[in-house]
Formats: sequence, structure tokens, C-alpha cells
Amino acid sequence: MPGSVKHRAMTTSALVLFSGGQDSTTCLAWALARFDRVETVGFDYGQRHRAELEARLRLLAALKTMPHGEKLATDHLLPLDTLKAIGGSALTDSMKIEIGQEGLPTSFVPGRNLMFLTAAAALGYRREIADLVGGMCETDFSGYPDCRHETVQATARALTLGLARLVRIYTPLMWLDKAATWALAEELGGKALVDLIVRETVTCYEGDPTRHDWGSGCGTCPSCALRAAGYQKYRTAI
Ligand code: ZN
Repeated sequence: MPGSVKHRAMTTSALVLFSGGQDSTTCLAWALARFDRVETVGFDYGQRHRAELEARLRLLAALKTMPHGEKLATDHLLPLDTLKAIGGSALTDSMKIEIGQEGLPTSFVPGRNLMFLTAAAALGYRREIADLVGGMCETDFSGYPDCRHETVQATARALTLGLARLVRIYTPLMWLDKAATWALAEELGGKALVDLIVRETVTCYEGDPTRHDWGSGCGTCPSCALRAAGYQKYRTAI
């Protein structure tokens, strides 16, 4: 009937790939500042260190009490056993992190981000969410080819075609270095968010719980080295 159509204000929703690390926590805060409703998805791919899966829940609980926390909606955890079954990576098997064949670190898990994005887009399809947010970064990408802007946007194009529905992938950290990622966290959530990221996020490849001013970790693996150097650069810049 004319005139009876009610116009609902459009609610924007995003699905954030949330691992419990520094980058994805910053991306989650970024999404909470921009979208009306934010769901999160993590992947259990048989990673050697389970601490990050536990950190996810502590981070979500803390973020709920911070500004925009009321926008946090359902959290999903999806198993992706295939990556562990294929193996051969320092993140899924007990092996040393070093430069391996092809000049890539042994921490490279082939196809990981492609599988994560595909699973997230399929979940988004069911949840009617077109906007995905991920922490991929080309600046500090350790040579991982699936963190490149071109790879991510080509994946968005393939998913849009393959699902016959728009899939957008936002990567707010793509061109930031680690110091700028810390600064972005401060811009989004002040000292409280920076402190939360320092205290609760897990990025160490060795799963070492030793505490430092930049967070916990072994201090020497490539992930700790990047995080610590970025934190020092950020601290000296403020
Ligand atoms: Zn480490």
C-alpha cells in the first residue's frame, strides 16, 4: 500500500577475521569505530600455540566494556584442519623458523589467508555480511605472498564472482608498519586499547609467555622482533 512502506535506517555490518593477535585486534577496533554491528571469526587450523585462541576470548570480553563495545555481536570459531594435515610449516609443526625454499620463512602456511578469506566470505554469505576486515599487511609482510594487497583484492573479486554476491575486503593495516599500527590503536581506543593489546594479544611464533613492555613473547622470533621494534619506534615518536 502506498505510504505504508517503512524505511529502516540501513545497519552496516562487518565480519572481522580475529585471531587474537595485535594486528587483528587493531582491525577489530577499526571496524567497531566504522560499522554499526561487528561479528568476529577465528580459525582453529591446528596452530602449535593455542594461547592465541584463549586470548581471543579475553580480548572480546575486554573490548565489550570499551567504547563501541555494544556493537560486538556473534563470535565464530571455525575449524580448518586441512592446513595442519598438509603441514610443513613452523606454525603447524615443530620446526625451526628460518628462511626456507623459495626464500620464504618456514612460518609461511601456504594458502592460509586464501582459505581464511574464503571461509569468512562463506560465513558472511550466511550471515548476510558483505564487508570483511582482515589484518593483512604488505609493509611488514615477511614476504608472505598472500598478505599482498593484490592477492587480497583478487581474492575479493574471485569471491564476489563465486558467490554471485558482493564481497569487500578491508585491510586497514595494509600500508602501515608496526609502529603505525600501534599509533592507530592509540588513535582508535587511547591508552586503554594500547594497554589491552600489550597485555593480552599473542603474536609470538614460539608461544613464549615472558612479559616485556611491548607484550609477551620470546623476544627473538621474527614476529617478536617486529613487534618489539615497532613498539619502541612508536614510543619514541610520542
Ligand atoms: Zn617470539
